[in-house]
Amino acid sequence: MTIAVYPGSFDPITLGHVDIAARAAAIFERLVVAVFDAPAKSLTFTSEDRIAMAREALAHLTNVEVIGFHGLTVDLARRVGAQVIVRGLRAVSDFEVEMQMAFLNRRMAPEIEVVCLPTSLEFSYLSATMIKEIIRLGGPTEGLVPHHVGEALRQKYLGDASTGPVPRFLNS
Ligand code: ADP
Repeated sequence: MTIAVYPGSFDPITLGHVDIAARAAAIFERLVVAVFDAPAKSLTFTSEDRIAMAREALAHLTNVEVIGFHGLTVDLARRVGAQVIVRGLRAVSDFEVEMQMAFLNRRMAPEIEVVCLPTSLEFSYLSATMIKEIIRLGGPTEGLVPHHVGEALRQKYLGDASTGPVPRFLNS
């Protein structure tokens, strides 16, 4: 059985991430979406919230599991018995970073392959950072993030008044 891990910060999960996860889940028998707890960038959501949002967004994919992790991706891959690390590619800038990471991962774990899936065209311009900016400025997020993620973002950036009740998966 081929197991793949799809690591990232997912802060928060977007429809671009969901697209990559769905396509990877169609290739591999099991996909572990791994939410990294401490990326080298400032986070909007806690690990628990990022995991909960990803779980809800991917609940329709029966061979996908969402977990949190810390440490190296290759160590996580070995722990869950994965032979493959999946990453998504949007632009040339992603390519440079992904190549560098793939070379370093290969040095540490030559038995694990990195598979990069090119984004679907409609999500090629999508990043969590841009979505946060749209939300902050009061723009619509349909077609960019799952509905529950849009709600969580609006609550985070615009406050309770604009969104009503606290989304049920958020602790804070
Ligand atoms: P990281 O902080 O590790 O880059 P991200 O959560 O930003 O984690 O992204 C996780 C993975 O998903 C990366 O491989 C990234 O290139 C990919 N990704 C992010 N946004 C998109 C998108 N819109 N379409 C396809 N892949 C994407």
